Amino acid sequence: MSQPDYRQLLDHLYDGLYFVDLERRITFWNRTAEQITGFTADEVLGSHCYDNILNHVDAEGNLLCENRCPLAKSMEEGVAVEAEVYLRHKRGHRVPVALRIKPLRNGDGEILGGVELFQDLSEKTGVLLQLAELRQLALVDGLTGLANRSYCEREIKSHLQERVRYGWTFGLLFIDIDNFKLVNDSYGHASGDQVLQMVSSNLKHICRPFDVFGRWGGEEFIGLIRNVGAQELIAIGERLRLLVEHSQLQRKGGRIGVTVSVGATLARDDDTLSSLVKRADELMYRSKKKGKNCLTCDL
Ligand code: GH3
Ligand code: MG
Ligand code: MG
Repeated sequence: MSQPDYRQLLDHLYDGLYFVDLERRITFWNRTAEQITGFTADEVLGSHCYDNILNHVDAEGNLLCENRCPLAKSMEEGVAVEAEVYLRHKRGHRVPVALRIKPLRNGDGEILGGVELFQDLSEKTGVLLQLAELRQLALVDGLTGLANRSYCEREIKSHLQERVRYGWTFGLLFIDIDNFKLVNDSYGHASGDQVLQMVSSNLKHICRPFDVFGRWGGEEFIGLIRNVGAQELIAIGERLRLLVEHSQLQRKGGRIGVTVSVGATLARDDDTLSSLVKRADELMYRSKKKGKNCLTCDL
């Protein structure tokens, strides 16, 4: 039986990885290390890690390679070392990384070299983190934690493009809470908000990883359901309708329950964002006319 190709596995690790021998000559350099540092394996194999390649520095800017190399420490003392440092990218800028280093030993426990795993922390830092937060704020509905309308619109547009380009089918559910004004009027706006959250939780639970549920506005929601035919779309919509029907908010004065009316349709070749949403909305409205708490599909 042939041996598995471990190098391939190591190449595809989430972390950068390299091995050095006792002279700190680099003997292996994985694909992720190439991506994080910009240096290819060809450029670094056989060089010493202190040969002006990565130039690790600590947060104060002190060069670590000469005297305080974490790899050297690990091999000399036979200990695991963890540190957060900066390395130099081939294009010159510094990349924050978390290092995990261990000495490599043979079967007798003698140290033959070292192995360093390093994780790119740049996505977790400063400006990028703030940008991620802003993006989150811009796309998530504050009350329900679902995608907001502008995110839904973007997703519908990109689903429509993907449908044309790759033939990926999808369906749209338009969901409206029945007699919601009555909830507000009877129990107060705060309870109304809690009902919106309860319905949203049901949407989240029914959501498969590749579906998107969002708050379209007020007490209206949409679901973008990927890769379905009519029957499956109806089944998902029906399951959702029943889940809501059987959910209740406990109050001192009793229990609050609501129902939803649903419109379901599959995206078509000539659909635009507005034609698709309009059709699903009209189908939902037909459910209202039929007496609410039901689903109408045009298929
Ligand atoms: P239908 O069955 O025909 O859909 O009747 P409905 O009462 O659900 O619909 P209508 O459009 O008459 O009322 C919707 C209500 O939803 C009115 C509005 O005050 C309330 N609403 C919209 N957004 C919010 C919100 O964020 N929180 C609360 N508590 N109420 C909201
Ligand atoms: Mg409505
Ligand atoms: Mg309503």
